[in-house]
Amino acid sequence: MRIVFLGPQGVGKGTQGARLSERLSVPALSTGDMLRAEVRSGTELGLQADALMKAGELVSDAIMLGMIRTRVAQADAATGFILDGFPRTLAQAEGLDATLVSASAPLDVVVLFEAPRDVLESRLTGRRTCGDCGAVYHVLSQPSSREGVCDRCGGGLVQRADDTPEAIGRRLDLYERQTAPLADYYAARGLLVRVDGTRAVGEVRSDLLMAIGLGEVVS
Ligand SMILES: [Zn+2]
Repeated sequence: MRIVFLGPQGVGKGTQGARLSERLSVPALSTGDMLRAEVRSGTELGLQADALMKAGELVSDAIMLGMIRTRVAQADAATGFILDGFPRTLAQAEGLDATLVSASAPLDVVVLFEAPRDVLESRLTGRRTCGDCGAVYHVLSQPSSREGVCDRCGGGLVQRADDTPEAIGRRLDLYERQTAPLADYYAARGLLVRVDGTRAVGEVRSDLLMAIGLGEVVS
């Protein structure tokens, strides 16, 4: 099953993507990870992307699409994939469709995870990350047992510089402006399903499985 996950930051796509990836035995693909892998292995795409990023420029849609095309042709993606973080614009969505159709791997479903803005803001501003091991906590919903200290490794917990209320507000604005219109685009193609991202992780998972036609009784 070839799936795109759409939704704002903080809606829980990453958690659901990791679980669904296991359940379906397909890779969860993020463009950030793919870019880092290409740069590490020194491919032509990787070199181009690295030069752009070092110059502080955005990696072009053409490079991203080339990378996705290469990645979905790999053996582990033969039965499908979950793509998260791409597309973010209408132009990218159209490019992705063309790329996947020419690779005989068109999308089966696009899942839109939704949550009201105040819920997202509260989730994102309360997020704390371990500076040593990267474990993620939340001051309200998932606090560490000792304030400011990582349960897993004892490292110090920090708020990421891009998790300030201002930066979060800017990212959510950008999402609403750029990415939210993709819902209409995919709905018009009959691919869109919606999942309520405000519910608990297990409930979201059941809803997700139901929405993509894999519904089951989850105990
Ligand atoms: Zn830690």
